[in-house]
Order: sequence, then structure tokens, then C-alpha cells
Amino acid sequence: MSSSPPPAPSRPSDDGRYLRIATEEAYAPPALIHEYRRLLDTHGGDAGFRSLWSYYLLNRTAHTELFRSRITDLGDRRLSDMAELGIDHQVLSLTTPGVELFELPLARELAAMTNEHIAQACRQHPARFSGLAAVALQDVEFSVKELRRAVRELGLKGVIVNSHTRGEYLDAPKFEEFWATAAELDVPVYLHPNTPSEGLIGPLLDSGLDGAIFGFGVETGMHLIRIIFSGVFDRHPGLRLVVGHLGEALPFWAFRVDHFHQVQDRTGRYPWRPSLRQPPSHYLKTNIWLTTSGMAWEPAIMFARQVVGADRVLYAMDYPFQAASAEVEVHERLPVGDEEKRTLFETAARGVFALPPELGRS
Ligand code: MN
Repeated sequence: MSSSPPPAPSRPSDDGRYLRIATEEAYAPPALIHEYRRLLDTHGGDAGFRSLWSYYLLNRTAHTELFRSRITDLGDRRLSDMAELGIDHQVLSLTTPGVELFELPLARELAAMTNEHIAQACRQHPARFSGLAAVALQDVEFSVKELRRAVRELGLKGVIVNSHTRGEYLDAPKFEEFWATAAELDVPVYLHPNTPSEGLIGPLLDSGLDGAIFGFGVETGMHLIRIIFSGVFDRHPGLRLVVGHLGEALPFWAFRVDHFHQVQDRTGRYPWRPSLRQPPSHYLKTNIWLTTSGMAWEPAIMFARQVVGADRVLYAMDYPFQAASAEVEVHERLPVGDEEKRTLFETAARGVFALPPELGRS
């Protein structure tokens, strides 16, 4: 372990060097929490959902009470937390696992409601909030329309997908129109973790590894490779994808994935798979941006920056799942200059989410 000095108090957020923009910050409308609770009470949803949300909704501890009050708030509670944590601006998005586990039309209603709430918060506090659209990908036609509405009418800056949709992944041909719409609207897709799908979760669940501790990364890292291998970035070269947790371990695996992808191509082992114009790691450095959500750890951040380029690594806190100013300080103490820290905290986020230049302090 490094011998860093003890964390300094968080700097005031108005010292003018750069804004701290946090890019993976969760919101849940109270109505969604109510429906999650109803699913738990009726043993609905998948095993991963029940494992994750039974902790937050069936436990009455100080930690879970605080969490619930934070995740459902888009006003004073969140703003005062941000001030205390040293965060100038949050890019808001629907919490995992979103609404894909609900039946229609409830899923569509909750996605649209989330977008209305987030858009309203952005209008009320334009200096403090931007937002990503929620969709309900079990209904691709609705999702495409809702994404258009959210971007064009509500001013949202991208779309979040909480990994699998009832066990289906975004490399399935049925999702092509979703990708094409994001590319056409020129907005990024944020691939956020979910607990692993039913086909993947077994040995993670019975060892208590299904959630953020490891299973999120297994699920989401695999999903990301499937997306890359689908050739979607060859079909839509301008498409932008953002992924949290420093790329869900993919930067670490990139060399080996490239190597065996080439071996598999040469031996014609998976003829149904589209051939890619470039090695898989190329897309990691071209179409994909990484955020530091939940990964306040210098060696991992520096490694990810080395692999994909410093201008593709963005700050995120993962509020309210993680909410600690000490984690902000880890980023502040990275061995890079102020200009690179500005990239990490502000400029890279402005670029990938196309945030308005006038965004600043209110
Ligand atoms: Mn998150």
C-alpha cells in the first residue's frame, strides 16, 4: 500500500480550479422504491434483484434509512450532501436494476416518470444537475421513442442501461434500433452494472459475491465484451459508450482478449460472430469512456488511464451507494498535474456528455 498522507479536508467547491462533475449518480423515484418493495414482498424479480434490494429495503438500519432518503431525493438533501462531499455537479441516472424487471405498462410508466423527475431537477438546478434517460428495454420500440423524447424535449444528455434485460444482452439483434438511435441522437449510452443474469449468478449468489463486491463486474464486464464483439462500433463508428468502475476490469484483460480474439478469428472457431475491423482493445480506446465510480484507488485509476488514455477516464462517486469525501481526496492526490485533474473531474465529462459550456456554479 502507498504511504499517502492522511486525507485533507475536502476543498471548498468554489476555489475555481475546476468543477468536480460526478457522472454515475443514482436516483430512484419514491414510486419505484414502492414497486421494488412490492416485488420483494411477492418474491418477484430475479435472484440478483432480491439479493441486492432486500438489503436496502427490508433492513431498518441507520445506513439503509439514510440510503433510502438519499436515493429518492433530488432537492435539498442531495444538494447539501454534494456541498459536504465537494461535488459541484451530478449526472443523474436511474438506479440499478432500473425498470426492466417490471411488466408492461408499469415499466414504461416508471421510466417516463424518472425522466420527468430528472429533467425537472435539471431545470431547477442547471448548475448542479444533468441527467441520463431511463428506458424500458423489454420494449425496444418504446425505449427508442422515450430516448428521443428525453433528449430532444427534456434535454437529457444520454441514456443509462442497467446491464442485462431479463437475461438478454445488448449484442442481441433486437437492440440494433436502440444503438442506431443513440448514434443518431449523438448521445452516449452508460452501461451500468446489474446483478448477474439468472444464467450467470449461481456460484456468485451462494458465495455472497453477486453484488457490487464482484458479481456486478462479472456481469457488466462480460456484457461490455459482448457489445464490442457484436461489431456495433463498426456499424456506428461515432457511438459513445460510458462504463463505470474503471471499465469493469476490461482494461486489465484487454491484452488477453485481443490475443484470443485473433486466435479465434484465425481458426474460424465462431463463424457466426461478425469479424471486427480492429482488435477489441481499439474500441476501448475509441468508443468507450471509463468512470472511476466506486474505484477510489490510485493504482487502478493510473493503470486505466495508461491503457485507454487520460482523456477517457472520468470522475464518478456512485452516490448514494458510495458517499465519502475521502474518496474524492484520493482523486485529488493522484500523481498528475492540475490540468490532468481538470480533465478527470470536468473536461472529459463535458466532452462525452456534451454538457453546456455555461454549466458552472449557481
Ligand atoms: Mn452505480
